[in-house]
Amino acid sequence: MSQIDIDCVKCGDRYARVEDGWCKPCQIDNFKKNFTNWTSGNEIIDDLIQEKNQDIREPNDIIFEWIPYNQLNDIKEINNVLYSAIWKDGPLYYCHHKKDYVRKSENEKVIIFSCLYDLPIITKEFYDKVKSYFDLYDFPIYGISQNPNTKEYFMVFQVDHCEKCGNKYTNVKYKWCESCQINYLKKNFTNWTSGNEIVDNFIQEFQLKINDYNDIIVEWIPYDQFDNIKKIRKDGFVTIYSTIWKDGPLYYCLYKKEYQRKLGKKQVALKYLHNSQNITNELLIRGRNSNVLPIYGISQNPDTKDYIVVIQDEYCEKCGEEYTDLMPELGPEWGRKWCKP
Ligand SMILES: [Zn+2]
Ligand SMILES: [Zn+2]
Ligand SMILES: [Zn+2]
Repeated sequence: MSQIDIDCVKCGDRYARVEDGWCKPCQIDNFKKNFTNWTSGNEIIDDLIQEKNQDIREPNDIIFEWIPYNQLNDIKEINNVLYSAIWKDGPLYYCHHKKDYVRKSENEKVIIFSCLYDLPIITKEFYDKVKSYFDLYDFPIYGISQNPNTKEYFMVFQVDHCEKCGNKYTNVKYKWCESCQINYLKKNFTNWTSGNEIVDNFIQEFQLKINDYNDIIVEWIPYDQFDNIKKIRKDGFVTIYSTIWKDGPLYYCLYKKEYQRKLGKKQVALKYLHNSQNITNELLIRGRNSNVLPIYGISQNPDTKDYIVVIQDEYCEKCGEEYTDLMPELGPEWGRKWCKP
């Protein structure tokens, strides 16, 4: 089966992002059902937590929770208001395989922020202060907890420094450290080759240019990774095919803090260049011009020796024209497929 579900298997709505299999209405519905399974013991805090989780926009958004105090071990003072701690079960992450939230990282290091100590009684002021932290900080808040002895409420934050190099994460929410990830890719250069030095250099150059967690890792993709290759159109020296990339591209996994092929097969377009000399021009254009479709990698047909540029599948199956993106402000991954002609 090479078909990919694009609509929610539960409610039939289009997934927010097909690769994630994540449907916002269904997930919010699940949270609501789960509201009966926990309580902070205080109605205002319960409401705050429920309200916060209505704002989730995408599968990597943090689920704000009531964290029982006995989940927090090894509490160490950093300064007057900050403590480090180990969260025994760790936060909820969206699992793309189960299409549900699960706790994947045990013993997650967290930061306790004792910012509510002067507000021991639950008041409107307390509520406003907690809400102000949602807006004030760009880094994720895992939840709220209470010390049963002192009765003090406090907030639990994600660690904002890379555990490997100690620098602040380039992207705190996604726990992505640019220098550590580029080092990893550099070390990996010896593990693959296209057999062509120019092509290898281009791919390496692309890889070293990444500067955020969701930048595509351009790769050398073996031809046997492509399944169900269908011709879309031919233009002189270029033919476009649509295909299924069996293992799919690398995505940054924020709980393992490394790149993985966690989403599996992906529909992509293959741009066959029937003249190997074209490969450098094509790469130059795609490398320098950010307005063209994202490139996933380079491949080569072992029989014809034609080089292939693997790009996002944005070609209409009917007429072969590129789809017109209706929502370009959300980025290509979010765009709806829509053909003007
Ligand atoms: Zn749904
Ligand atoms: Zn680092
Ligand atoms: Zn069309």
